[in-house]
Amino acid sequence: MLTTPGAPPAFHLLAKPTGPICNLDCEYCFFLSKEMLYPGDRFRMADELLETYVRQLLESHRTPEVTVAWQGGEPTMMGLDFFRRSVELVDTYRRPGQRVAYTIQTNGVLIDERWAAFFKEHDFLVGLSVDGPRDLHDAFRVDKRGRGSFDRVMAGYEHLQAADVDVNVLCTVHAANQDRGLEVYRFFRDEMGVRFIQFIPIVERATQTLLPLANLGWSTSRKEKRPLYVQAGSHVTDRSVGPEAYGRFLSDIFDEWVRRDVGGVYVQMFDVALANWHGEPPGLCIFSETCGLALALEHNGDVYSCDHFVEPDYLLGNITDTPMAELVASEQQQAFGRAKRDTLPQYCLDCEVRFACHGGCPRNRFTQTPDGEQGLNYLCPSYKRLFNHIDEPMQIMSDLLRQGRAPSEVSAALAADEAQQLAAAGRNDPCPCGSGHKYKKCHGTAPGGVGA
Ligand code: SF4
Ligand code: SF4
Repeated sequence: MLTTPGAPPAFHLLAKPTGPICNLDCEYCFFLSKEMLYPGDRFRMADELLETYVRQLLESHRTPEVTVAWQGGEPTMMGLDFFRRSVELVDTYRRPGQRVAYTIQTNGVLIDERWAAFFKEHDFLVGLSVDGPRDLHDAFRVDKRGRGSFDRVMAGYEHLQAADVDVNVLCTVHAANQDRGLEVYRFFRDEMGVRFIQFIPIVERATQTLLPLANLGWSTSRKEKRPLYVQAGSHVTDRSVGPEAYGRFLSDIFDEWVRRDVGGVYVQMFDVALANWHGEPPGLCIFSETCGLALALEHNGDVYSCDHFVEPDYLLGNITDTPMAELVASEQQQAFGRAKRDTLPQYCLDCEVRFACHGGCPRNRFTQTPDGEQGLNYLCPSYKRLFNHIDEPMQIMSDLLRQGRAPSEVSAALAADEAQQLAAAGRNDPCPCGSGHKYKKCHGTAPGGVGA
């Protein structure tokens, strides 16, 4: 075990063995343009580097569990032998008692029985990118010929299901699916039978910086259409989720989840929120006070401050020159992490849900507060809406936890509360169910009612 002054006991490093290279061409994917950072490169992690990475990762953790996390691009393009080798190396370098958890994020199109059996054997948690039912998924998740990828992804998923692999669906929320939250959620829960779901907002800044392509030797038309994507500019593309829509999408899902699925379906956003309501570390950088413990490793050993900041200003160094632990502990990285807290506008400092939001991810802080201060998160209206909307049930769940009871008891508590409110409602009152109708036109009609 290495002890580097200032190094955290644990951190998260997303390794990208194929860099940004992918077998799909999703329209909103900002990673694809990152090819330009390494002109002429083959984008394949070499065996010596894989060994250096695994050894340093295990050495630099002072916690009993280490996560080996693969991402892309599309990491399965490395082939199965690469991952078999990575597991062998982990077995070579892990200290006695050190546990290793494997995760991989994939688009699923290469997954077959062999991959599924391998994932099962080594207990991988597989993050599968799906944006909802076919029409919503295929809106942007297309291949190099512009064809939707839904059928290929579902074929991969079936192999994972057949092998009983743990799957976490990662769904991006964007202009095409933002108004269909419940439908998307029910598709994952009822048709795919998924129990772990993450919803990630697509916020694609439209003002991109064009590196001098000629200097880099690029001239193909496809690459010119994808300028290097950096976190700059204050406009977003029309594929992006609306600033309020992400909150609506999640609130709609929350209302169903909290009434029937708590404890059965894990929606990352709601778990993280419950941790913040309960005063525990949320386990997700975006809703933590500071960040900087979720870094990215490129195929050649370069380490960047964060997977969302794989760009020249955020390069910390290369693990073949500087040990990983030193890069993680560097002043540059610590300053990156502190900036999340230290650059909050006053509007956030005064906000009633700051304890749950912490201003969101700095990459999306490019709008102005109502009084004109720069640095407000583009998704602020979503966060305010969502965190206010879920406040009462979150408090109930947090109380249940304090009493040593299951948070899933919230469903019964809410049902009893709603029944009481319905019983007390006058005919002309707004219906307590929140439909926006008068009680007499909604739950006050017998039997059922339009909102029942
Ligand atoms: S910049 Fe955003 S995504 Fe990156 S570590 Fe910080 S909060 Fe997380
Ligand atoms: S909800 Fe908006 S104002 Fe409140 S902390 Fe989050 S980004 Fe800031």
